[in-house]
Amino acid sequence: MSTHLDVAKVRADFPILEMRVHNKPLVYLDNANTTQKPRGVIERTREFYEAENANLHRATHYLSEVATRRYEEARIKVANFLNAPDSHQIIFTRGCTEGINLVAATWGRQNISEGDEILLSEMEHHSNIVPWQIVAKEKGAKIVVAPINDRGELLVEEWQKLLSPRTKIASIIHVSNALGTVNPVKELVGMAHANGTKILVDGAQSLPHLRVDLQDLDADFFTCSSHKIYGATGVGALYGKRELLEEMPPYQSGGDMISSVSWSNTTWNELPYKFEAGTPNMAGVTGFGAAIDWVESVGLDNIAAHEADLLAYATERIREVEGVRIIGEAKHKASVLSFVMEDTHPNDIGHLVDTQGVAIRTGHHCAEPLMRRFGVPATCRASFAAYNTREEVDIFINSLKFARDLLV
Ligand code: PLP
Repeated sequence: MSTHLDVAKVRADFPILEMRVHNKPLVYLDNANTTQKPRGVIERTREFYEAENANLHRATHYLSEVATRRYEEARIKVANFLNAPDSHQIIFTRGCTEGINLVAATWGRQNISEGDEILLSEMEHHSNIVPWQIVAKEKGAKIVVAPINDRGELLVEEWQKLLSPRTKIASIIHVSNALGTVNPVKELVGMAHANGTKILVDGAQSLPHLRVDLQDLDADFFTCSSHKIYGATGVGALYGKRELLEEMPPYQSGGDMISSVSWSNTTWNELPYKFEAGTPNMAGVTGFGAAIDWVESVGLDNIAAHEADLLAYATERIREVEGVRIIGEAKHKASVLSFVMEDTHPNDIGHLVDTQGVAIRTGHHCAEPLMRRFGVPATCRASFAAYNTREEVDIFINSLKFARDLLV
């Protein structure tokens, strides 16, 4: 399949890809874990510290105005990228994990009561399980788990049947980090709303691969991380519907999130600042904006087509390796190839392919219940990004054969 992506040009933007590991060229296939950063992001962060650094919103001096402007420009970039109705509904967080914790700890505590239900699925990441378990335990609510089939697809009819009058919120992974499955989130949002249920979409793994249109999707909350889409670590965004964000109590408190403080009464700042207590990762946020600029300059659709080609090629070639079983064979997948190899442990494979310069992830991928569902303790996972090539897939497959020859 030919794509409109000039991979050589893309690769030239990423200094780290020139590296050698164990005296071999680096083949970085751990992108679902975190992506590498293009020059534009690295330079933006450096420029912030070299020429713009000051604290936000708090001073009238020149640098503070520049820093505030840069920070707010990034918010507008994120809002536009996601087609959010208003940039004030984009809250900067430490990442997707913090976004989900924020919703569970504020909206959840305020709206979930004894006997209520929270609908999740078998393929959730721990960060979309544990915050809900905490609020469920505190309130005497119940976690309900929707099943998936052996290909790793959500059983949508079962999911719908599990929506009850007590289901206050459903929280669903958009693209599975461990399987690659793309969930039909728009359909799920419609079903949840028809039941009077709020819905959060965990977009950690969809943001880098699929066009997300928040106005079209109509989810109540959407969370994502900058580092999964070529941006800084420790930065993410939470989108929420205005009326919900307005009603929710603050998550953390302190500077910036207040309108006025007195000993007898403190009032909250307007959106989004009500949820942004303290000094944020300003350089990182501006880097998030630069990452979006980079993706837009290459074209998200071009990236998605290129990754689909790599995934199809790798899926075909991995079948040459004896004893490999793919975990996650959904019809609709993005960028992730998870597998186990009979008579070997994923960690041993991970170490051996690393000696060949190939970086993959091995482990439970923060999805222990999902691993149990498939009867495996862990998997190996290769995940693709804009800068990967078919030649790298070939090196990866050879490294797997090398590992197999030594282990079996
Ligand atoms: N949700 C999914 C599906 C993920 O893959 C991840 C990270 O791997 C997260 C949430 C958590 O993201 P972060 O660690 O950036 O907060």
